[in-house]
Amino acid sequence: MVTVTTVDTLQEAAASSAGQAVFLGGGTLVMRSVNYGELSAPQIVRLRSVTALRNIRADGARVIIGAAATMGDVLRSSDVSFLHPVARQVGGPAIRNMATVGGNIFAPHPYGDFAVALLALDGKLRMSDGSETDLESLLAARDTERRLVESVSIARPAGDDFRFRKVSRVKPKGVSVMSLAAWLPRSAGRISGARIAFGAMAPTPVRARSAEAALEGASLDENGISGALSAATQGLSPPDDGLASGWYRSQVAPVHLKRLLLGEGSRS
Ligand SMILES: Cc1cc2nc3c(=O)[nH]c(=O)nc-3n(C[C@H](O)[C@H](O)[C@H](O)COP(=O)(O)OP(=O)(O)OC[C@H]3O[C@@H](n4cnc5c(N)ncnc54)[C@H](O)[C@@H]3O)c2cc1C
Repeated sequence: MVTVTTVDTLQEAAASSAGQAVFLGGGTLVMRSVNYGELSAPQIVRLRSVTALRNIRADGARVIIGAAATMGDVLRSSDVSFLHPVARQVGGPAIRNMATVGGNIFAPHPYGDFAVALLALDGKLRMSDGSETDLESLLAARDTERRLVESVSIARPAGDDFRFRKVSRVKPKGVSVMSLAAWLPRSAGRISGARIAFGAMAPTPVRARSAEAALEGASLDENGISGALSAATQGLSPPDDGLASGWYRSQVAPVHLKRLLLGEGSRS
């Protein structure tokens, strides 16, 4: 039997989830595992109110998104219009009304499309103990993380500097064969400080650091991006699953990276 405890603060919830309880975000994955009898713990801990954790607000050159903001909240916010094409590709309408930004960061492979975008946009997390950590470090240690996420701060990209692409076999609601996001700041027409992230190409969303390095100082055209395409999967060992083999993912990643960088649509 699973028991449910309701608490008032994220700190109390974190104390419980450091022990025997699973924290409940929007519940799209947690409640599914309850229904399948697969929950990893005997207890669920939830917040009495998540209103304060659903805020989305611009903060200078960055935007802060509360961990309990749902994909629907993202779609209703004009401060994050650049993330609308991402949120729109997480599940169907019922899932988007429940699925939270915080839960997406902890969603196992091949989920986590939204986290891929946050990673490309230099995501920095405020945690339940008041500390800050960057999303990349948290993802690397996700399985042993005991704190909860309060909010995520991301860069606000200029113009068309941010791109996202989801590759799936089932349209429009299929899960990812892979997802890709790129933040491509430019100075005098040359890329400077690009960040590229892949989803479903490793157990968690990851940066494609070799491709990023190959883009430094390049122009955003076929010639300029050729080095990044050659380096696209360097250091990555994509997993096999029921959707695709790791070999297939490696083979098609440069094709999708090319389409992403050249701005050819957000879904394939
Ligand atoms: C039919 C279906 C389709 C889906 N399609 C997609 C898809 O296309 N793309 C995609 O990315 N995902 C998809 N998902 C997975 C899931 O809905 C999303 O990843 C969602 O964002 C998870 O958020 P949640 O709030 O529902 O998480 P929950 O189920 O509440 O929690 C998931 C995990 O995250 C942890 N967690 C939640 N909030 C926090 C927090 N603030 N701090 C720390 N840990 C936290 C929980 O403890 C739990 O371990 C799908 C799921 C279903 C059932």
